[in-house]
Amino acid sequence: MTKLLLPALAGFLLAASRLCGAVQPSGIHNHTYGIEMADHTVVLTLDDGPGPMTVPIGYYLYTKGIQATFFEEGCRYSRDLAPDPAPPAKPGDIGSCDNDTNYNRSVLYALNSYGHILGNHTQNHILMNTGATDYCGNPYSNTQRIAEVLGWGSNLQYLLPAHHRYYRSPGFSWDAETAALLNSAWDPVDRTYSIYERYRGPISADIGDFYVGNGENGDVGCWNKNNDLSVSACAQMFIDDIVNNGNRGIIIFHDRPVTAPDGKSEYALIQQIVTWLEENDFRIVSLDSLPIPQ
Ligand SMILES: [Zn+2]
Repeated sequence: MTKLLLPALAGFLLAASRLCGAVQPSGIHNHTYGIEMADHTVVLTLDDGPGPMTVPIGYYLYTKGIQATFFEEGCRYSRDLAPDPAPPAKPGDIGSCDNDTNYNRSVLYALNSYGHILGNHTQNHILMNTGATDYCGNPYSNTQRIAEVLGWGSNLQYLLPAHHRYYRSPGFSWDAETAALLNSAWDPVDRTYSIYERYRGPISADIGDFYVGNGENGDVGCWNKNNDLSVSACAQMFIDDIVNNGNRGIIIFHDRPVTAPDGKSEYALIQQIVTWLEENDFRIVSLDSLPIPQ
C-alpha cells in the first residue's frame, strides 16, 4: 500500500508544484527567441560578464526600472567561489577567460539586489555542440560539457537561492544531442533534479548579433580595434537591427572585460539604446515575461 501511495503522492506534489508561481522549469530544449513578443517590446540581456562596468550598468538599469538578465561565466570569479569543475578553456576558445579577472561574490549580490536575473553561460565558455573541440582539436567530453553547466549552476544556486535558472549557450552552440545529454544528467549537488528540470533555454537573441567586420559581431565587433566604432555609430547599428527585427525581440550586449578594456563604451552604448527605446515608446520587459516553449 505504502509503496503504491508514495510514488503517487510524490507525483501529485511534483505536478502541483509545477502549477504554482510565474516561472516553471521546462528544461533545456531549443533556442528561445523573442519573435512571439508584442510590438515595441524588447528584453535586455548581457553576456560574458562580469567586467569592470557590470555593477554600474546593473545599477543604471535598476534606476530605469529595467530587469535585465546577466549571463555570466563562472571562470571570471575567484576560485574559492567558482572552482573549475573541468579543465579550463584556453585562449583561442571563444570568449574564454583569457584575462586576469578575479571577481568576487559582491558582484553577484549587487546584481541580485538590483533585481536582475543571473543566467548560466557555462563555467569556461566552451562551445557546447556535439563534436566541438578545444584549442588542440580535442573534442570536449560529455563529462566536461555537463560540468560546464552544472558546476557554475551549483555555485549560483548556493549563493543566490532565488536566482532564475536560465541558460544561454556560448556562441549559441547547440544541437539536439547536446540537449539530450544535459537533460539526462543529474545535478550532483541536489540529486532531486536533472538539468532538464532546473533550466529554461537555451535563450537566444534576435538583436545585437549583426555583422560588423573582422569576424566579430555586435558590440564586440564595434569595439574591435580594427573597427573602432564610436558609441553613436554602434548604437545606430543596434537601432537598425531593432527596426529590421520588427521592433521586438531579445537584445544581446556584452559586458565582458575583453570587449572594451574599461567597459565605458559599453555603458554609454546601453544608455543610448535605453534612451532611444524610451523615446520611441518601447516596453523593456523581463525575460520572465517570455513564453518559453516546452
Ligand atoms: Zn558568450
